[in-house]
Amino acid sequence: MRVYLDNSATTRLDDEVLKEMIPYFSDVYGNASSLHAFGREALAAVDKSRETIASLLGANPNEIYFTSGGTESDNWALKGAAQAYGKYGKHIITTAIEHPAMMETCHKLEKDGFDVTYIGVNSDGLVDPEEIKKAVRDDTILVSVMFANNEMGAIQPIGEIGRFCRKEGILFHTDAVQAAGTIKINVKELNIDMLSLSAHKFHGPKGMGLLYLRNGVKIEKLIAGGHQERGNRAGTTNTPGIVGMAKALEIAVRDMEKNNEHMRKLRDYFIDRVEKEIPYCHLNGGREHRLVNNANFSFDYIEGESILMVLDLNGIAVSSGSACSSGSLEPSHVILATGASMEQAHSSIRFSLGKETTKEEIDYTIETLKAAVEKLRSWSPLFKQTEGESHYV
Ligand code: PLP
Repeated sequence: MRVYLDNSATTRLDDEVLKEMIPYFSDVYGNASSLHAFGREALAAVDKSRETIASLLGANPNEIYFTSGGTESDNWALKGAAQAYGKYGKHIITTAIEHPAMMETCHKLEKDGFDVTYIGVNSDGLVDPEEIKKAVRDDTILVSVMFANNEMGAIQPIGEIGRFCRKEGILFHTDAVQAAGTIKINVKELNIDMLSLSAHKFHGPKGMGLLYLRNGVKIEKLIAGGHQERGNRAGTTNTPGIVGMAKALEIAVRDMEKNNEHMRKLRDYFIDRVEKEIPYCHLNGGREHRLVNNANFSFDYIEGESILMVLDLNGIAVSSGSACSSGSLEPSHVILATGASMEQAHSSIRFSLGKETTKEEIDYTIETLKAAVEKLRSWSPLFKQTEGESHYV
């Protein structure tokens, strides 16, 4: 049996999306910036997609800028805002649990003379908006808080933070890469100034994303060159990617209620059974305010990578830490930020369900996981020494 439980890393391109994209590789292949009929045809598809996406996000079409994905959108939002508004102040507020696309950008800005405050989270992985309010200074130009966390799925109080920032006249950016697809987002209602999205997280194509930039907010460009995206983001327009992202978002919003109910039910069933049937495990992040498809567990006495490998040998795909930081031996900064121990952070495993996940797959995963944990613990001298106490010596 092959089971894909790594939908937070990426999702399968939807068949309907692929069908919609194909003509724009082969038939309508003109450059959307060209003046001739080939180009005009491509541009019409891009314009229509921009309108679809804008209406699904509660934005105006001219507030949507297409990018190569979440990483570029995050880089652009932060670096662009820092450059444009740096003359008014050099202080930025973000959180301790952001994705590396944000974290590394913040570190770069620190090297360039900006001061970044990283707000911590509680044991459920949630940011307290009061902490953000307290951190604001006269020179604060930007607040950036991710909509939902990529490792433990914690959904942040974006509405309250957005309301506060708008009232204070501080720019507000959110990395909504993990939220889109399972949470309905309206940028106007949430007082969002800038928002990053990535198509491959909601069954769209990889290498395709967007930055929503509220009219009136002017940031410096990140990528210079041609005059695409109204002169703000250069590079030949990715017509099939854009058409695919629009279709994927349309399907995600159309089927959201049904898919969320399906995933939430299976996710809860999975968490309940793991907690009941596997001793010495911890659910990372709280159960409330959690993405419907996320379960993240640490298993005492075992490295996350060992479980990942045993599951992989049995055809089950999961992640240890975030997909982007796998390959590094550093424990997850996200799990550590919840107050978890180094060992707990090292042993975290993310199971991220998809709309196509079945109960049979979940049952198979639980049985395989139980056997894997038992076997790996039987090889652990540490476990034998301390069996009966759920902690490390
Ligand atoms: N932000 C978050 C929260 C993510 O989970 C990811 C991808 O894992 C990214 C940004 C990067 O997006 P992309 O893969 O489109 O560059």
